[in-house]
Amino acid sequence: MSRQALVVGAGLGGLLCGRILSREGWHVTVLEQGIQAGGALQTFVRGGLRFDTGFHSVGGLGPGEPLEQVFRPLGLMDLPWYQVEADEFINCDLPFMRLSSQTEDEIAHVADPFRQSVWRLRGGGKMLVDALREGLDVQLRKKVVEISDRSVTCADGSIYGADIVVSDLHPLSTFRMVRDHVRPAYLKRLEKLQNGPGAFTVNVALKPGVLPYVNHSIFLDGEVMIHFGEADENGFARSLDLLRFVQPGYDREAVAKELIEHASKRLPDLPEAILQYWTSTPATWERFTGTPGGSAFGVVKHSPAEYLSAVTPLPWLFLTGQNIGLHGVLGTSIAAVNTCNSIKNVCDTL
Ligand SMILES: Cc1cc2nc3c(=O)[nH]c(=O)nc-3n(C[C@H](O)[C@H](O)[C@H](O)COP(=O)(O)OP(=O)(O)OC[C@H]3O[C@@H](n4cnc5c(N)ncnc54)[C@H](O)[C@@H]3O)c2cc1C
Repeated sequence: MSRQALVVGAGLGGLLCGRILSREGWHVTVLEQGIQAGGALQTFVRGGLRFDTGFHSVGGLGPGEPLEQVFRPLGLMDLPWYQVEADEFINCDLPFMRLSSQTEDEIAHVADPFRQSVWRLRGGGKMLVDALREGLDVQLRKKVVEISDRSVTCADGSIYGADIVVSDLHPLSTFRMVRDHVRPAYLKRLEKLQNGPGAFTVNVALKPGVLPYVNHSIFLDGEVMIHFGEADENGFARSLDLLRFVQPGYDREAVAKELIEHASKRLPDLPEAILQYWTSTPATWERFTGTPGGSAFGVVKHSPAEYLSAVTPLPWLFLTGQNIGLHGVLGTSIAAVNTCNSIKNVCDTL
């Protein structure tokens, strides 16, 4: 009989772990609190346009580059990826990530692949999520509220058991649900983890035929990031996303206006092109993904020595996701591979 794994959270980290484990013969059940799988890779449709949330472009997908090496064996290079131009930096170098309080080490690892090559996915993050879900038993609307002795309990009272549990949640959120005894030093370490700030996004629907499509992302003055949606058949943009980090206490409408004004320095036709816009805040992120404070990139690592291990004090409980490794699609994917290697090592010796 195949071994059973329960994965808590259907974000990129949880889905990738599920995918890798199921290819190694495990029976995998993924429990997701939301009505959609994907976590930060969720998409939504407004005014007939699709918007991505935490997935705009990825770096390092060219032949032999780091993300390609993770995705190819998992069959994910068959998706409709397309290469775009290098990111455009105006009055800054890599400020978006710097602003998110990530450390030099983390910035270097996450940013370097974007210098190699930048890619987008036709159809957006949903395409990646749908491909990862194939062959997995993903159960939606299953908010896990307790983890204990190789089993998890959901808010609706359902209980699942397995040989191992893999959590894609923030480590502190995971251990707040654990009922087994865990040594206090480990819990203290988790309490001390610092999270980076949350992101504020303005998702803009554009009038047709006004704003020419730009085939790359723009980082402006160390504060604003501009991502274009897909081009229409005439080469015009139909949507774009403006992003910046915010600290608690922001005024939602004021930040939205300021972001549009700021982006107009680079795109003077933007105000005239706007049909409608919607905003999301760190509170939105916290509601949809459960990330404490709506932190965009999760735990800040001050040095490699501070990275959390996928292995926990409980031999059947493992961690994955951006909080234990590097963030972003690349960082989270490498974390998932590392988690599965740890599971293999631990389970082979049990
Ligand atoms: C605004 C923004 C823009 C970004 N843009 C990019 C980009 O362009 N390129 C890039 O490479 N990276 C980008 N990222 C980063 C990237 O999206 C993340 O690093 C990655 O998706 C994190 O995946 P994860 O699995 O670690 O976490 P998450 O996506 O947060 O997944 C956690 C999952 O667990 C679920 N969950 C939480 N609590 C429970 C519970 N109690 N029970 C059951 N399920 C639960 C959540 O609903 C969620 O689905 C961006 C992030 C943000 C916020």
